[in-house]
Amino acid sequence: MLQRALDKARAGDRLSRPEALALYTDAPTQVLGRLADAARARRHPDRVVTYIIDRNVNYTNVCVARCNFCAFYRQVGSAEGYVLGFDEIFAKIDETISVGGGQLLLQGGHNPDLPIGWYEDLFRAVKARYPDFKLHALSPPEILHISRMAQMPVPAVIERLIAAGLDSIPGGGAEILVDRVRKLLHCYGKATTDEWLGVMRSAHHAGLRTTATMMYGTVETAEERLEHMFRLRDLQDETGGFTAFITWSFQPDHTELSQEHGITLEATGVDYLRTLAIARLVLDNFDNLQSSWVTQGGKVGQLSLLFGANDMGSVMIEENVVRAAGAAYCMDEVEIVGNIEDAGFTARRRNMHYDVLGDPIFRQRDVPRMLSLAKARAQGDVGKEARSQEPRLTIDE
Ligand code: SF4
Repeated sequence: MLQRALDKARAGDRLSRPEALALYTDAPTQVLGRLADAARARRHPDRVVTYIIDRNVNYTNVCVARCNFCAFYRQVGSAEGYVLGFDEIFAKIDETISVGGGQLLLQGGHNPDLPIGWYEDLFRAVKARYPDFKLHALSPPEILHISRMAQMPVPAVIERLIAAGLDSIPGGGAEILVDRVRKLLHCYGKATTDEWLGVMRSAHHAGLRTTATMMYGTVETAEERLEHMFRLRDLQDETGGFTAFITWSFQPDHTELSQEHGITLEATGVDYLRTLAIARLVLDNFDNLQSSWVTQGGKVGQLSLLFGANDMGSVMIEENVVRAAGAAYCMDEVEIVGNIEDAGFTARRRNMHYDVLGDPIFRQRDVPRMLSLAKARAQGDVGKEARSQEPRLTIDE
């Protein structure tokens, strides 16, 4: 089986589930990497690696879903709960524009006090103030939450949000798209596998492009990680609506899952590179695979460019999600571009549709470096040790 799988991967042929499993579990890491790099080169022969300047804003941490891998949420009524005001969001957009960004990645908890009208008002206010600014917002579980609260079908919710200014949907909340795993992670209630895929199908039919994600390293098996990828490949065959796939490892600090199931260690960098590589081989209908340097660090992020990734994701301006659960890594545009170029690739800015926008902004004009990161450091957020003494927020979407 392994030899047949290796031959098919070398030829660029589509892999079956048993063939993918043989490669994932038995192929040497450097062989997997070479196969994934060759698959990346077939799609991106120009050796261009892209990145986007945007900002990850978590508009609320109040959430009724209570996933056990999440350290970000606060229960309704918690003194630590928050909802950002529109003016706070405008200020974040102003900062994003000042460093050359043109998009917000806007996600949050399932807050029962925010009806669909709140999102419509926010999107309309953003578009009125910043007509060209893009909103990559509301992962499938958030769309489902809004649809349940409004007692309105998902396609109707998506149409209303598009009319208000929604430009695309991030692929958060997928975790592992296998219901056995979702039940163990307490995320089956927020979205079953079919519901998550159903929201994406509706979004694609409505003309939106979306991303897809996978969080691994909890209770899933290797077969279940692959099943997740095959479900995505099937939907991509059907709609062609996914722009990119992003995978990252579970960040255990301050989570119930860590405390109750004893999962205290993050998956290794080698596991990450193998998972990324097999994703490039299985997801033969996805153009783009992002490096998850936020969870893996800059140098593993750089190495990921040799294991199938062709995109470095987002320049770090603000991130509350994985930072709260222990991820320690931040890079601004200068550092991201340095890592891309040191690996022998050409760095280019892109938009949410992965259209190349141009050369790095910092080579065209002066931009402030590390806005919120600088503030966080000034406030003493200097490393993992400091974080472990101070519970923080996280979200996976
Ligand atoms: S992962 Fe998202 S849906 Fe789950 S508890 Fe955290 S904020 Fe809520």
